[in-house]
Amino acid sequence: MPEPPGRLRAAGAGPWTPLAYPFLGKQVSFTAVGKHCPMISQADPEVVVIGGGPSGATVATLVAQRGHSVRLLERDRFPRYHIGESLIPETFGVLERLGILPRLRGGPFIEKHSVQFVTDAGKLSEPFYFADYKPHESSRTWQVTRQEFDALMLDNAREHGVDIHEGVRVLEVLFEEGRAIGVRCADESGRERQIRCRVVVDAAGQSCVIQDRLGLRQWDPELKKAAIWTYFRGAQRDAGRDAGATLVMQTAGKLGWFWYIPLQGDLTSIGVVASHDHLFADRGKTLEAIFDEQVARCPGVQPRIAGAERAAPFRAAKEYSYRSREVAGDGWVLVGDAFGFLDPLYSSGILLALRSGALAADAIADALDADDPSAARLGVWGPDYVAGMDRMRKLVCAFYDGLNFGRFVRQHGDHKPLLTDILIGDFFKQDIDALWPLMDAMQADGETVKRPPVGSCGV
Ligand SMILES: Cc1cc2nc3c(=O)[nH]c(=O)nc-3n(C[C@H](O)[C@H](O)[C@H](O)COP(=O)(O)OP(=O)(O)OC[C@H]3O[C@@H](n4cnc5c(N)ncnc54)[C@H](O)[C@@H]3O)c2cc1C
Repeated sequence: MPEPPGRLRAAGAGPWTPLAYPFLGKQVSFTAVGKHCPMISQADPEVVVIGGGPSGATVATLVAQRGHSVRLLERDRFPRYHIGESLIPETFGVLERLGILPRLRGGPFIEKHSVQFVTDAGKLSEPFYFADYKPHESSRTWQVTRQEFDALMLDNAREHGVDIHEGVRVLEVLFEEGRAIGVRCADESGRERQIRCRVVVDAAGQSCVIQDRLGLRQWDPELKKAAIWTYFRGAQRDAGRDAGATLVMQTAGKLGWFWYIPLQGDLTSIGVVASHDHLFADRGKTLEAIFDEQVARCPGVQPRIAGAERAAPFRAAKEYSYRSREVAGDGWVLVGDAFGFLDPLYSSGILLALRSGALAADAIADALDADDPSAARLGVWGPDYVAGMDRMRKLVCAFYDGLNFGRFVRQHGDHKPLLTDILIGDFFKQDIDALWPLMDAMQADGETVKRPPVGSCGV
């Protein structure tokens, strides 16, 4: 695997200053940990948020909006690279609450109006235009470079009064009699300190500080995927409102799929997702060799990158989906990937980060107002949120089980709106559940293509 370039500090860069693309190199993490541990710092906040990604920035901003003091600790210095670039329409409501929409409308990001599926034979489906389904401003969303989007979100939190400390890694959450009472953290020089607070929010992404400490993580036995991705300059771009479409392109035998996400600066994010065992069957192969092999299996992607130039190293991630057994406990809450990660097929990650951040923020502010940061109050939003994640998971599994969505819509046209609701991210409502018996019936009738072991999720 080629060694990635180091991280670029874009000191003084405004949010829309085009950044050079050493960012596309691997993220560099700070690991120094010292021994010195003075007691509590000055004026302890009511809430400590671990991590400044989309979920952390959201929860911190909205709790601060309610007048509570929030300190956010982020181990990296922003802007920093992150994967996960495609938004879906239902992010709109939270982005509006955060007050960030004017900056997105005026920003550099490519507008996304649709998603389009390409079969393993290279056959394009009709583009699915969000506005055709829901003519509202939310139907225009964005493809975002995360170094810029996340920095914008964090700056917005700062402007809302959140006390943000970059280059500070949380080493552990402190508990007393089963209740979270603060964190122990270290700055870049290794100096450690403790911060006390009434609520600790774990928004540390896949690092999952609390989930692992309390042994709450449940791996999803069905969604054991891996991804390999890179960026191309000069890849094919469609015209007009299709220019920013996300494409999901299946590989031969439907054993995997490519994402194709157009970004600003003529860059396109392109990655392949498949079962871990399929992608890494031969451990001796480089990421580049595996990626190229998968391109050769994908007639959808080949012509689109034929004249393009690779603009970044290859990266890989194990995409094992997981979820915590609990969303909150006494004095602590989990949001975003720190609660659970779901396969990236339908680009739901940032929506889930924003949604859980907003729901948790309301619960935290209510709990602090009531002087009762108990598990019951902090986790009051959990059941509905988990039910929503389950609905998205079912649709992910239906895809991997080979459900033919075109045929489903032809057979059950009256249910197309519900299917569409999931695709735009409006899956936190029970009506959606009317879909599952119909999908089960199609599956029972042999309407799905069963693939080797890893596929079936039992929709
Ligand atoms: C291959 C792949 C493709 C994806 N594609 C998409 C997509 O197209 N669209 C989409 O919506 N989602 C996508 N996702 C998912 C998306 O990236 C995540 O769901 C999203 O970033 C979650 O946001 P978060 O704020 O919870 O966590 P993160 O964005 O991971 O932020 C966590 C932050 O916490 C910091 N941190 C970690 N540990 C500590 C610590 N100990 N102390 C202090 N700070 C800490 C990290 O530095 C980081 O900044 C994809 C994910 C993968 C893996």
